[in-house]
Amino acid sequence: MNTRRKFLAQATIGSLAAMSPVSSISCTDRAENPDEKTIGKKPLVISTWGFGLQANEGALKVLNSGGKALDAVEQGVRIIEADGSNSSVGYGGLPDREGHVTLDACIMDGGGMCGSVCALEHIVHPVTVARKVMEQTPHVILVGEGALQFALAQGMKKENLLTKESEAAWKEWLEEAKYKPIINIENHDTIGMVALDKNGDMAGACTTSGLAYKMRGRVGDSPIIGAGLYVDNEVGGAAATGLGEAVLRTLGSFLVVELMRQGKSPKEACREAVLRIKSKHANYKDFQVGFIAMNKKGETGGFSIHEGFGYAVGSEHSNELVKAESLLE
Ligand code: ASP
Repeated sequence: MNTRRKFLAQATIGSLAAMSPVSSISCTDRAENPDEKTIGKKPLVISTWGFGLQANEGALKVLNSGGKALDAVEQGVRIIEADGSNSSVGYGGLPDREGHVTLDACIMDGGGMCGSVCALEHIVHPVTVARKVMEQTPHVILVGEGALQFALAQGMKKENLLTKESEAAWKEWLEEAKYKPIINIENHDTIGMVALDKNGDMAGACTTSGLAYKMRGRVGDSPIIGAGLYVDNEVGGAAATGLGEAVLRTLGSFLVVELMRQGKSPKEACREAVLRIKSKHANYKDFQVGFIAMNKKGETGGFSIHEGFGYAVGSEHSNELVKAESLLE
């Protein structure tokens, strides 16, 4: 599927959410939808890809009733984690090359508190475990077996996350066992979300099953604070999706927030972070990375290497998918 068709397919998935009363969903080009359109709007939420529309619906339920940004981002991304029909986040995620579904997630509030889990197995909601790491432990990150033990001690249930569909896809992959990412079709899209609540507080969350058929033990950018996600109430927040190694090498989301701190708009900051990745990777045309960002004024933006990336922007009365500008057509 080419990138444009992929984007439109995601917009169609998103239109499911249009049945919900809060939504008027449309898929808009940047020219008709300036980033400034959301300035001054509170509450506000943005999230990556077409499934961001569904995640936003969950977040908006919390935000519209006066709830906290931190609760909103957790509730929003949990919807995608529980949805076995997507193969890139939570339950139903594609496994590593040995057949294990291993999940990465983090959460951060605008005051600088954060929590994260890496390579967590058997738990449907890694974002909730990440929040518990933040709130119930003196630590920021728990990994693998220790993260699982902690989740079980917190009363979470051990489950099989490998669906029949993902198992079949893995077995088919095993026939050739080649890892060759195809732009936008790699089936490893992450849900990253940033929200601003009625009080003006911000928070973000990021959760993924990571690269399909990754090496056992591989951790991407998504659970690493500053790489897959960063939020600062004084400035704004950003999240990343795409090839995690490239985002890790440039600490992408932190970079976006720091660029906004220096006065760049969210879209300009995302563009500059993409340019940084370009400058460090001679092969940047071979992979996709996309950033989304929101500043504390409510201005939103996104930018990607390749065309085909989009993000959902939700406010009190609307929820729409926006096509991000890209470096390459
Ligand atoms: N960033 C994720 C990872 O590298 C994957 C994605 O967003 O597509 O694990």
